[in-house]
Amino acid sequence: MSIYIKNGKVVYDSSVKNLNILVEDEHIKKIDIPENFDEAEINDSKIIDAEGRYVLPGMIDAHTHYLLKSRNAVTADDFYSGSLAAAFGGVTTFIDYIDDQHDRDNTLKESMENRKDEARDAVVDYSLHQVITHFDDEIARELREIKEQGVNSIKIFTTYRKEGYLLEKENLYELFKISKQLELLPTVHAEDNEIIENNEEKYKAQDKTGIEYHPDIRTDKSEAEAVKNIGELIDIMGMPAYIAHLSSKLGLQALKQQQSEGRDLYAETTPHYLVLNREFLEREDGYLYFMTPPLRTKEDNESLWRGLTDDHVDVVATDHCAFTEAQKKIGDDSFDILPGIPGSETLLPLVHHFGSEKGLDIVDIVNKLSKNPAKIFGLYPRKGSLKEGTDADIIIFDPELTRPLDSIFMHSMAEYSPYKHIEVKGFPVTTISRGEILINEGAYRGFRGHGQFIEAEKSSLF
Ligand SMILES: [Zn+2]
Repeated sequence: MSIYIKNGKVVYDSSVKNLNILVEDEHIKKIDIPENFDEAEINDSKIIDAEGRYVLPGMIDAHTHYLLKSRNAVTADDFYSGSLAAAFGGVTTFIDYIDDQHDRDNTLKESMENRKDEARDAVVDYSLHQVITHFDDEIARELREIKEQGVNSIKIFTTYRKEGYLLEKENLYELFKISKQLELLPTVHAEDNEIIENNEEKYKAQDKTGIEYHPDIRTDKSEAEAVKNIGELIDIMGMPAYIAHLSSKLGLQALKQQQSEGRDLYAETTPHYLVLNREFLEREDGYLYFMTPPLRTKEDNESLWRGLTDDHVDVVATDHCAFTEAQKKIGDDSFDILPGIPGSETLLPLVHHFGSEKGLDIVDIVNKLSKNPAKIFGLYPRKGSLKEGTDADIIIFDPELTRPLDSIFMHSMAEYSPYKHIEVKGFPVTTISRGEILINEGAYRGFRGHGQFIEAEKSSLF
């Protein structure tokens, strides 16, 4: 099947151009000025009139947790509903996780196969990061195996010792050594465990365990300390690393310090650290705004926006981890509650709506949400660009369309929206994934299992 997209403002090679696009089967066959297409070429194509709206490469949500099993609970979104919501938000690729902590009896490769099986209903394409919570010679050998299968990034935690996620310092060194050899990009959940455990004891002793204290327990200082430690480690190792979900001004300052000293440290933040703040935790429904790291202050929001506009922060992804209101409501104690909020569907609309006021133009937004993550996670130019021969992952984005972000308009099975108080201007209307029109002017016509696992290549950071 072929599709001809005309009258669009296309973000192409870091500028906005009036180009038409011819898609044949799964790929972009031709992208050129309108005059260079003749009748015969587009004869049998389905014609999509973009009517002057933006035509963009599909967004990449580089940090999702669909079908996450945590503390005897399972997230509301599985790979089908999560990726369906993502598609409505203009996301055509997501990157999820293979969790070795839940799968200790299996090799990494077996866990990977299991994860791919769980993801078989995905609506859009995906790639995978490998979580590493322990290290030995066996893991080193298995990392080689999964790299051959197209996994080129790992995820480590500098916190959650009691939960079994913390990778101890001596192991961290060994793991980074192997990942440098294999050119596997380490991505890091950066919070200093010692600071947090000390705070936990202190706050527990004072009976201050409510969710409103969460930001005081998991402090910005703990984030900054962990960022600094990772920076120092990669300096010794001579390799790059990527900080996941940077949440605070102090964390950003630590990142900038490391970058200014020449360390190859890159970072992602999320929409919730840009537009929500800790005052939400004081509300009656504060449990709906509980995640880790916690929400900070408005000043932290502003600081992270500046981190994006001055390019210290490279990517915005969501950390989508959707539980239902009922699942979240089990208590108001920050030690019991399930952390995480939905996000994939609102990623682009939120960054566009608020980012436009902060000085991000449409090209910057495409860079942060599509091109940069594609490069960093080894998917470029197949994903994250509109070029001849690449996957036809294309969205039409209407910058004038206003939409309240209420859950009745959303597709996550969380069935609540942390952004229900917000009405955005600008929303994607059409989503094409590998030449398949999944959403056409807001109407879903995709199908289960269209999404495929995409083997990642080496990260551009190596
Ligand atoms: Zn996460």
